Amino acid sequence: MKTEMIKLPGDVPGNSIELRVLRFEGRDNKAVGAYLQSSLHGSELPGQAALHFLIPMLEKAEKEGRVAGTITVVPQANPIGSAQWQAHQHLGRFDYFSGVNFNRSFPLLETFDTAALPPIDAPKSLVERLKAQLLRLALPHEIVLDLHCDDESENYLYIHQAFLPEMYDLASALGSTAILSWDSTADAAFEEACAHPALQLSETERKARAVTTVEFRGLNDVDFETGRADAEGLYKFLVHRGVVIDDSVKLKVDFNGPVTPLENVEMIRAPQGGMILFHVDIGAEVEAGAKLVTVVTIPGDPNGDITLTAPQAGRILTRRGHRYTRRGDDLLKLLGSKRSENARPGSLEA
Ligand SMILES: [Zn+2]
Repeated sequence: MKTEMIKLPGDVPGNSIELRVLRFEGRDNKAVGAYLQSSLHGSELPGQAALHFLIPMLEKAEKEGRVAGTITVVPQANPIGSAQWQAHQHLGRFDYFSGVNFNRSFPLLETFDTAALPPIDAPKSLVERLKAQLLRLALPHEIVLDLHCDDESENYLYIHQAFLPEMYDLASALGSTAILSWDSTADAAFEEACAHPALQLSETERKARAVTTVEFRGLNDVDFETGRADAEGLYKFLVHRGVVIDDSVKLKVDFNGPVTPLENVEMIRAPQGGMILFHVDIGAEVEAGAKLVTVVTIPGDPNGDITLTAPQAGRILTRRGHRYTRRGDDLLKLLGSKRSENARPGSLEA
């Protein structure tokens, strides 16, 4: 394993960030390569925990000559977001300077040629240069896994429709309970920027690829057991795709969870601000009309309670981690089987 520290100068004198990039050289130039990154939203750590346990497994494979495809791992993809604390709280989703989500507004390239991306020292903001650098690292690989997590959540994947059903192998390896399939979000998340040039390829070439955002459960699902199990899952997938050779590992492709287009996801939003009391937990299957969540707008007065019900039958995929909401904010995601009346173009969340 080679460790490379890529230094990006900051936007003002005296500041810089360092990206720690781990590289495993593949021995077989016909094998596909894989890129894995975590914590693009600074404090989303389940993926980082998985990589923490995966990296020693890859080092062992390398020592034994079993790394076939080139593997690049960036465990902390966003040193800017990782350092954003305010009043003792970590806030890693939006760039403090611009207010832009760190996982939006990536450059969309038509081909895998990255020459047009701004170099490390371009006259562009650090965030733009970081985004360009992450794309330069990822795009040479056929497999790109961007490891995120939700607030309180089941283990699920975002996958472009063009990579399905081939990518059921990843869902099987990771034990994902659902796939959210998309065809165009136009928000240019990292996944979209990595998928975009692949979508211009022939079907056969594209099918050998895998690009996804992994939502490894919720923010607090960070522990030894889960991290190790997720590392095993990632390893199994890499073996299945021929990136790593390991005869002792066999993957059974048995994913049978829902594959839900984004437009079928019911985003339940707060009609007013207040205290959140959930009626349902993640993983619950609910009927249309079932009580989902009550927003208490006047504590002590039940007349102020607003109870939101399921617009259609489905599965509760996620809940917000906090219990105090603003008007209009997301409260939970329900996986429906038909188009949501509130469906809107673009990503599900800001
Ligand atoms: Zn995220």
